[in-house]
Amino acid sequence: MKLAFIMRKITKTFYDNSSVLGECALINTRRIYYLSMIAIPLRIINIFLFTINKSYDTLTLKAWSKGIIASHLVLLVFMIGFLLVTHRLKNRIQPNKTMFLLQYIVVVVIMASGIAIVTFDQLVTTNITPVLLISIITGTIFLIRPITSFILFATSYMTYYYLIALTITNQQILLSNRVNGITAIGIGFLLSLILWHYNYINITQKRCIEMQQKKLEQMAYYDSLTDLPNRRLYEKLIKQEISLMQRYGHETVLIILDIDNFKKINDTYGHPVGDDILRQLADLLKSNVRDSDTVFRFGGEEFIILMPQTSLEGGYAFADRLRKLIMDKTFSIGPITVQITSSFGITSMDDTNSQNLEGYYHLADRALYLAKQRGKNRVEIVCGKAD
Ligand code: GH3
Ligand code: MG
Ligand code: MG
Repeated sequence: MKLAFIMRKITKTFYDNSSVLGECALINTRRIYYLSMIAIPLRIINIFLFTINKSYDTLTLKAWSKGIIASHLVLLVFMIGFLLVTHRLKNRIQPNKTMFLLQYIVVVVIMASGIAIVTFDQLVTTNITPVLLISIITGTIFLIRPITSFILFATSYMTYYYLIALTITNQQILLSNRVNGITAIGIGFLLSLILWHYNYINITQKRCIEMQQKKLEQMAYYDSLTDLPNRRLYEKLIKQEISLMQRYGHETVLIILDIDNFKKINDTYGHPVGDDILRQLADLLKSNVRDSDTVFRFGGEEFIILMPQTSLEGGYAFADRLRKLIMDKTFSIGPITVQITSSFGITSMDDTNSQNLEGYYHLADRALYLAKQRGKNRVEIVCGKAD
């Protein structure tokens, strides 16, 4: 039972994580950029220190210094290349193929350079610090999914295992360094696993919070019956529109639409039918406005259409076309078919009127009142200062 649980956990750690690979590639790209910025001057200092030291009098010392300088030089060239590539990529929001590939190339280059340096080091010393260092650096800096990390670290160890045999002649030291190498590379792999695990949890929790925020926003600003923006969003957008009008001096039209005798429809067919009519009407309104216009469900059976950069005549023609469309539409709810009409109140929100947001609403509402008073199924306009 316990074993099955552990196996499930291991399998989950190794496989169930492809959904965060994109985010990890983005993080790795930025880290490669900053790592290159630090690694380049360090490589230059290393090469400099080895070149100014002239006391390599034996063949072994000469081979050692040449090998180390060559390793640092190759790494320096790669690091400059990584810096140039990531400089272009680091501000991207979406990961691309280069990013996915680059992170593995960087890890391979860094691990290979550490192993090469240690191999040359064995000509003069038995210590394997560079391998321990590059394992820790790779394990803590890069976010690599466990299965790939395992392949990379295992391959690195195999390479290290065979390469150090080229420069170590003493069999006991060779054995000791091979054993110590497992610890060094193992620590890197373990760090990589831990980092990945916490990062995976972090990313998935962040996503969950973002989704909940979106849901809350949807609930706060959108009407659940029709999915239209609600009164709260209207108040926000109308303020923005007033400041845009003041800045650019354009005219914006505000239309209020109210279904005629809706109470009677509810009383005759029932509330669910009324709800369905509201939904169908919302779809009709949405599909008939321009992309720049916004339809709001203001409450009950009242809708508002905000039409930026529209003249009063244009707004009137649009409202009248809508009125006819609604009048001609047959609303089908199961076996029931219903015809409705609607009344419209229009006002023009231009800067010369100097109304506040309630003022514009009251003007359009007064126009709607007139439309109702004058027999419904009509469009009326009221402009100027509201009472
Ligand atoms: P008028 O032509 O003057 O606008 O008359 P009316 O009956 O449409 O207006 P009134 O304000 O008297 O009634 C509005 C009705 O709209 C009352 C209410 O039951 C109904 N209503 C409001 N919200 C909803 C809703 O979400 N679903 C349904 N089915 N009905 C609603
Ligand atoms: Mg009504
Ligand atoms: Mg009403």
